[in-house]
Amino acid sequence: MSLAELGTFESFDPATGGVLASYPRHDAVAVHAAIERAAVAAVWWAGLGFRERRRRLLDFKAVLTQNLDKIVEMVARETGKPAGDATLESVLAITHLDWAARNAEKVLGRRRVASGLIAMNMAATLEYLPLGVVGVIGPWNYPVFTPMGSIAYALAAGNAVVFKPSEYTPGVGVLLAELFAESVPEQPVLQVVTGHGETGAALAGDPGIKKIAFTGSAPTARRVMAACAANLTPMVAECGGKDAFIVDEGADLKAAADAALWGAMSNSGQTCVGVERVYAVNSVYDEFLRELTERARGIRAGEHYGPITMPKQLDVIRRHIDDATASGKAVVGGPESVRAPFVDPVIVTDVPEESGAVREETFGPTVTVKRVADAAEALEKANASAYGLAGTVFSGNAKRATELARRMLTGMTAINSVVSFVGVPALPFGGTGESGFGRIHGADGLREFARPKAVSRQR
Ligand code: NAD
Repeated sequence: MSLAELGTFESFDPATGGVLASYPRHDAVAVHAAIERAAVAAVWWAGLGFRERRRRLLDFKAVLTQNLDKIVEMVARETGKPAGDATLESVLAITHLDWAARNAEKVLGRRRVASGLIAMNMAATLEYLPLGVVGVIGPWNYPVFTPMGSIAYALAAGNAVVFKPSEYTPGVGVLLAELFAESVPEQPVLQVVTGHGETGAALAGDPGIKKIAFTGSAPTARRVMAACAANLTPMVAECGGKDAFIVDEGADLKAAADAALWGAMSNSGQTCVGVERVYAVNSVYDEFLRELTERARGIRAGEHYGPITMPKQLDVIRRHIDDATASGKAVVGGPESVRAPFVDPVIVTDVPEESGAVREETFGPTVTVKRVADAAEALEKANASAYGLAGTVFSGNAKRATELARRMLTGMTAINSVVSFVGVPALPFGGTGESGFGRIHGADGLREFARPKAVSRQR
C-alpha cells in the first residue's frame, strides 16, 4: 500500500543552497497507515524474544558498519559537516546500538524480587515489557547519533518504531530504515515518515503511538506535548541547552582551552551539549583566555567546521553576536564573523548575564567568557539558567571538581574533558528544565521504552 501524501518537499545542501533530493510529505492518513503496519510488526518483533532481537540488532550493526561510508556521505551532504565529524557521530550511534542490543535482557528481563517482611510467603517477579509502537521525532544536527539514541533502545526493548527525521535530514532517516530492512526483512519494524512539523504532529497525536521520543527545541517540545495530551501518550523530551564550562584553580589550562574550543566550535556550535558559557575563576582567567583566544584565531568556518545547517538559525546567531559585542568585549571575531551560511569563531567577554547571548541557546560557534571570584560564584552563575542539560568542570582539585559536578543542575557533567559522557553508552542522557525530561541511553534509556510488570504469587 502506498502512503498518502501532502505532496513533496526538498532537502538542501546547506553550503550552496542547492537542492539535493525530494521526499514525500506524509500526512496524518499516511502516518496512521505506517503506525497500523508497525503495530502488527511490533507483535512479531516482541514475540522474537531478547536473544533473537539481539541477534537481529547485531546484524543491523554489521550492516551499518559495512555501509559506514554511505551513511557518512549522506550525513555530510545534508548537514554540511566535515566527513570526520559525520564519521564520529555515526560510530557513536553504532556503539549505542551495540550496547542496547547486548544489555536489553539484563536490564529488562524477568527477575525474582525478594519478598518483604509482611509478604513472607509471596514469590514476586518483575519484568519490563514492550510498549508497542514508539514514535521517534529527530533533529538535524546529529541526524544519526541523536535518533539512534532512542531508536536502538526502543527496538532492543521489543518495540516497533516509526521515525520522523528532521525535514533538513530526511535522506539519513530513509537510509537508516533501508539498512534496517536488510537485517530484518520480514516486518516493517522500523519505518520512516518524512515531512515537516505537521508530519511529526500527526505522529505524536495518533492513538496507536505508545510513547514519543522527541529531540529538538523546547518550543517544539511544548507543541509535541500538546499533541500527546489527546491520548495521554507519554514522551521523552530531549531539548536544547546553554551549557556552562567552569575553569577552576589548578586546572590544566591548555587542556581546558582545547576542550572549551572543541565544545564551543565543533559542528559549528550546533550541538545541544555544546559549550556556550565559560566561567573562569580570577586566578586563572587571564591565562585561560589567552590560551583559548590563541587557539580560536587559527579556526575558520568552511575549513575546520561546516556551514550553519538551518538558514533561519543564522538570525539567532547574528542577534546574539550583536547583543554580546554591543554590551561586552569581542576578543575573537564579531559581527563580521557571520559570512552566511558560514560563521567564524566568536569569543566575547564581560557580557551581562541578562543578555540573550548568555540566557538563550545560540547554536552557533560563539562563546561568552566571564571572570568570577571563585568556584562558588562559577557554580551559582552556571546554575542560573533555564536550561539544565550538561556542563563541564576543569579543576586541579579532584574533590572540589566532584562537588561542583554533583551540584551543577544538569543531567550530565564532564570533569577535565568535554561532552565525554556521550561516548559512555551506559550513562543516561538528558536534562532538566527547558532541556527536557526523561532519559535516553543506558539502562534508564531502555526502561523509557518499556512498562514494568510486577507479578506476586502466594506460595
Ligand atoms: P526543532 O524543534 O525545530 O525540530 C525537531 C523535530 O520536531 C523536527 O523533526 C521537526 O520537523 C519536528 N517538529 C516541528 N514541529 C513539530 C510539531 N508541531 N509536532 C511534532 N514534531 C514537530 O529542532 P531542530 O532545529 O531540528 O533541532 C535543534 C534543537 O534540538 C536544538 O534546540 C538542540 O539543542 C536540540 N537538540 C537536543 C538534543 C538532546 O539530546 N538534548 C540533541 C540534538 C539537538
